[in-house]
Amino acid sequence: MNRDSYRKSVLSNIKKYDFHATSVLAENEDPQYTYSTGIQESQGKPEIIIIGLESSLAHTLSCIYYNKLKSGEVFKIGVEYSGFLKGCKVMFCKVPKDKLEEYMLCVPWIYEENENEAIQLIYPDDNELFSWEKGVHESIIREQPILDEKFLSDKKREKQNAEEEMSNKKIICDNHGEQKMTLVCQHLTVDGKSKALGFYQPKERFNDIQAWCAACDNELEKVGWEWNDENEAFSSIKLLCYQCFSEIKAKQIELNPEKVQLDDEKLPDDDEFYDLAGKFIDLANDLTKDYDISEIGDSFIYAASRYNAFETVMTEDNLEDNRQKIIDSFCAQYRMSLIDNLKDYEKNKENYIKK
Ligand SMILES: [Zn+2]
Ligand SMILES: [Zn+2]
Repeated sequence: MNRDSYRKSVLSNIKKYDFHATSVLAENEDPQYTYSTGIQESQGKPEIIIIGLESSLAHTLSCIYYNKLKSGEVFKIGVEYSGFLKGCKVMFCKVPKDKLEEYMLCVPWIYEENENEAIQLIYPDDNELFSWEKGVHESIIREQPILDEKFLSDKKREKQNAEEEMSNKKIICDNHGEQKMTLVCQHLTVDGKSKALGFYQPKERFNDIQAWCAACDNELEKVGWEWNDENEAFSSIKLLCYQCFSEIKAKQIELNPEKVQLDDEKLPDDDEFYDLAGKFIDLANDLTKDYDISEIGDSFIYAASRYNAFETVMTEDNLEDNRQKIIDSFCAQYRMSLIDNLKDYEKNKENYIKK
């Protein structure tokens, strides 16, 4: 189709549907994208561009945007909006003039003499992290370039400041003095050291350390792990010192490890991990010819801690502030593996141990 006939079809679509959506295929390193032409004329609002999503989905999102505008909704830059992609929030940034001319070729054709305006719909990765957040899936950075570079760098800085603020938050505990602050549900705060309530510790986001009980997790699960007024009231999160947090965690692991879910201390389930561990165990088994098994067990623990200390010193930039957290994390990991392995041996004793 030549430029003139394409222009005609765009114009006729605008006449019929108020806007036309153009999809551009991926080429070399450049991801596919879809953008609207006509919304500015019909609604007096910016055109929309969506980068990195498959064209039919991007088309649907453009229609949602158009319909929401039509019903009077207003969209601001840098604010999260739901109702576009199922289960996740999206955000908008301005499309700078040079990018608009580079990406949205049809737009200037239609309104030659007007100032064109467009916004980019920004969606997060599968874990609901946006491009500027720590731990975001790198594919989203590649597939969804943020056209407004200043917006991106502002967001990064904003995030960094928030993280710094969180990680510096300290609390004075009656029992433990000045400690890092953690967030714990009211049930664990009150009964966490006496009753098996379960312990759910999600991956750290913004450096905050938090945990809640099984009942709270159940409430959260019902609504897809989104906090709302209802579950916030149910959990009534309290501030606790890191020492108190660690004590409750250790107690819950002791009382009922089945009800403990630690997102950052799960054992990997890949074969490579167990093959590697198997090499150490093989060596220990060989050594039983010359040594007693409890002697080997003790030296194994010493060797593991020796290696973990080495590993920590090599990889941790901020040992001073994170010392207690690191120690607790290794100990919790050891405790979890020991509980798992004991259970496994009890069940399979006959198969594992040849008399
Ligand atoms: Zn709770
Ligand atoms: Zn404390």
